[in-house]
Amino acid sequence: MATKKIMLLFMSLFLCFGVIQTTASATGVNKSLKLGVGDTLSGITAVSQNDTYYVPLRALAAELKWTLTGLPDGIQVDGGGRTLRLLGDNGGAKLQDGTVAKADTFLQNGTLMVPLKISAYLGYIISFEPEKYLLRVYDASATLDDAGFLSKYKSELTPPVTPEEPAKTPVAKPGTTLYLTFDDGPSATTSELLDILDKYDVKATFFMIGPNMNRYPSQVKRIVEMGSGLGLHGMTHRKEKFYASASAALAEMNGDNAILTKITGKGTTLIRPPYGSKPYFTKTFRDKVLGQGYHLWDWNVDSDDWKYKEDSATIYTTVMNQVHKLQHSRTNPVILMHDQKATLKVLPRLLESLKKEGYTFEIITKDVEPLNFWRDKR
Ligand SMILES: [Zn+2]
Repeated sequence: MATKKIMLLFMSLFLCFGVIQTTASATGVNKSLKLGVGDTLSGITAVSQNDTYYVPLRALAAELKWTLTGLPDGIQVDGGGRTLRLLGDNGGAKLQDGTVAKADTFLQNGTLMVPLKISAYLGYIISFEPEKYLLRVYDASATLDDAGFLSKYKSELTPPVTPEEPAKTPVAKPGTTLYLTFDDGPSATTSELLDILDKYDVKATFFMIGPNMNRYPSQVKRIVEMGSGLGLHGMTHRKEKFYASASAALAEMNGDNAILTKITGKGTTLIRPPYGSKPYFTKTFRDKVLGQGYHLWDWNVDSDDWKYKEDSATIYTTVMNQVHKLQHSRTNPVILMHDQKATLKVLPRLLESLKKEGYTFEIITKDVEPLNFWRDKR
């Protein structure tokens, strides 16, 4: 029982580790390199991000015979006769002498990736010669020098390993898939928004308002062409009109869908009522509207971008904090944002961080189990 508890704690530490920091050491251009450990070429692939090579912590620990211990404030790593502690929540790596070094970590398909550099903190030597595809970590027990290592593994070290594409699975992996959603569009700045999404090769789902689609039909077409998701947000966006009756709500969604179909040739069954489904979209409303085949979507990450506007720092923190909380329960984030000019400012930084944390951006379709405040799975 006690062992189980420790294991769970240990696992949750891996999961909730958002970003710890560290300094980069690598400056090469190779996206990934096979990692040499001691005198052997290991099965570990080191991945380069922002000029730092990252390795899966558990695999590296196994190779170097390190002991990992989950503690309330982070993960203790014992190896090479030394110890360090990877502190949770942006804490960095606490070294034996009490200093805290920067150490960025991130999750890649559920695996905690750490900078190879942490092995240097434990007294290991790291050799890096990008032009020879050499990346090697070793200690005094190694018998080969780098030249000897290179000649031993010459055939295996060139050409560089291409990064492994994550397996495409039809079913979203829990906790690693992310749904970006934009409400209230299209708008005068939708094209800039789509440019940013394109640049980061990311897709989103748009819950659009009928009259806005009539005003910016070319943006709606572009959303379809880029493969982003389509959703309905009604016609009036006015509480007293939309929620006047279940029939009124259904009429707004049907009208919205008719406009979408007129512009793009296809409709959608995804809906998001204005201001979210709670408290007004009660069972009477849901029976009426979802009974027509619509699927109800709210969100579990609220960016509050409509409120913070140009205050990108606050929007960024608001989103990332909520995303990190969801990592504890391996819940896929559904992020609410708005198709508005102010949101463009924060978007690149957000996308960069979320990608770095290993999320795959998917669009919402009728086949994804609806997430809403009523837990109505229809
Ligand atoms: Zn709205």
